[in-house]
Amino acid sequence: MVREVDVAIIGSGPAGLTAATHAYKGGARKVLLLEREEELGGILKQCIHNGFGLEQFKQDYTGPEYAERLITELEKTGVQCFLNTLVTDLSSDRVIAALSPEHGALEIKAKSIVLAMGCRERTRPNIGIPGTRPAGIFTAGVAQRFVNIDGYLPGKKIVILGSGDIGLIMARRLTLEGARVIGVYEIMSYPGGLKRNIVQCLNDFDIPLHLSHTVTEIRGKERVEGVVISRVDAKLHPVPGSEELIECDTLLLSVGLIPENELSKKAGVELTTATKGPVTTEIMETSVPGIFTCGNVSTVFDLVDYVAQTGAAAGTFAARYASGGLGTSKQSVDIVAGENVRLLFPQRYGFEDDLVLFIRAAEPVEKPVTVEVAPLGSKINRPYARPNEMLRVKIPKGKLAEVKQSIRVSIREK
Ligand SMILES: Cc1cc2nc3c(=O)[nH]c(=O)nc-3n(C[C@H](O)[C@H](O)[C@H](O)COP(=O)(O)OP(=O)(O)OC[C@H]3O[C@@H](n4cnc5c(N)ncnc54)[C@H](O)[C@@H]3O)c2cc1C
Repeated sequence: MVREVDVAIIGSGPAGLTAATHAYKGGARKVLLLEREEELGGILKQCIHNGFGLEQFKQDYTGPEYAERLITELEKTGVQCFLNTLVTDLSSDRVIAALSPEHGALEIKAKSIVLAMGCRERTRPNIGIPGTRPAGIFTAGVAQRFVNIDGYLPGKKIVILGSGDIGLIMARRLTLEGARVIGVYEIMSYPGGLKRNIVQCLNDFDIPLHLSHTVTEIRGKERVEGVVISRVDAKLHPVPGSEELIECDTLLLSVGLIPENELSKKAGVELTTATKGPVTTEIMETSVPGIFTCGNVSTVFDLVDYVAQTGAAAGTFAARYASGGLGTSKQSVDIVAGENVRLLFPQRYGFEDDLVLFIRAAEPVEKPVTVEVAPLGSKINRPYARPNEMLRVKIPKGKLAEVKQSIRVSIREK
């Protein structure tokens, strides 16, 4: 039997929870949230540290507390949730195939769909570290799950490669659990994670951060016995003669996150190499009409508050699409990266709503900058621009009405 719904949401992390609540608040009545795990909340369940919701709720929540707040909001609506339900296929005409022990093989036809599947971690094969293949190499998120949910310590003498936020958070967490974190090694000349995490997770615990360094070999037969660290030059090539052997039993990788885009590909959604997620408009619509996206499946955001914000937009507009209330003109312009911009979200403007732009600088500028949005002539001042801290800029719809070609965003020193 094919089930028919107004809005189906895939994934119940902060993006999916917020999208579901807003789809219901936006007028959709048959809203179905599909989640493969046995509980709602997504990755937040294993993020037991604080720092969530500072912007959105002006509260310093842990991940589970933040998720609970979103779940409480959801419970006030009539959204139906199917847990333990894995979505296995998605077509461009919005038919979902899913499997669940309770409901069996499901086929769901939705008037609109919100993709909220989150992101996955890059692993050793993604970055190709040479050496043996012993036990003791984990991604930082897997180690986070072991420690915070399963109650296992992944090792005692730990090296962390990459200074992404999850790695920084795990440096502190493992130290608190009694492990020795020897150091965090980062190939770039600037950190990957937020400044607040460098201070609170490394500096406060005397854990050194070595920039412009990488792991060039892993040693050990059954278990990791050590890693060789090398300095890298400006082209990120290891410098011969700079090798140093560091004895350790565990290597954690915190070397980036990638949108979970298998279902997006199956639905024929256009992806962009810049974010590795779907090409998206300001109302979170993908290139396939009626399929919307939000949170880290769209682009990897720095803050959960931004994830929830995109979830609210996706849910609201998915509900409007389902009711037939979205404009059909489909006029849109590209938003393109200009000087010193590595990444932009969204990448298209469709003249439906205000434009909230998330921008990542290509290179750090440690002095005042202006974000220029051409052809509007808008110049927005910011005290600095760093690749590890997204800039967010809001441009009202009224200002964009006359744009005919593309919108070009640049970051320039003042
Ligand atoms: C391993 C890991 C650890 C992280 N730790 C932190 C941290 O400590 N602090 C932090 O700020 N950020 C952390 N992040 C970043 C985190 O992704 C965001 O902060 C936030 O949780 C993103 O929200 P989301 O709703 O987009 O995705 P998620 O929270 O990842 O939620 C996605 C949900 O979709 C479900 N799903 C995926 N595919 C399917 C499918 N086919 N069928 C059904 N359900 C599906 C998943 O089970 C999951 O519940 C981590 C990310 C990862 C990958």
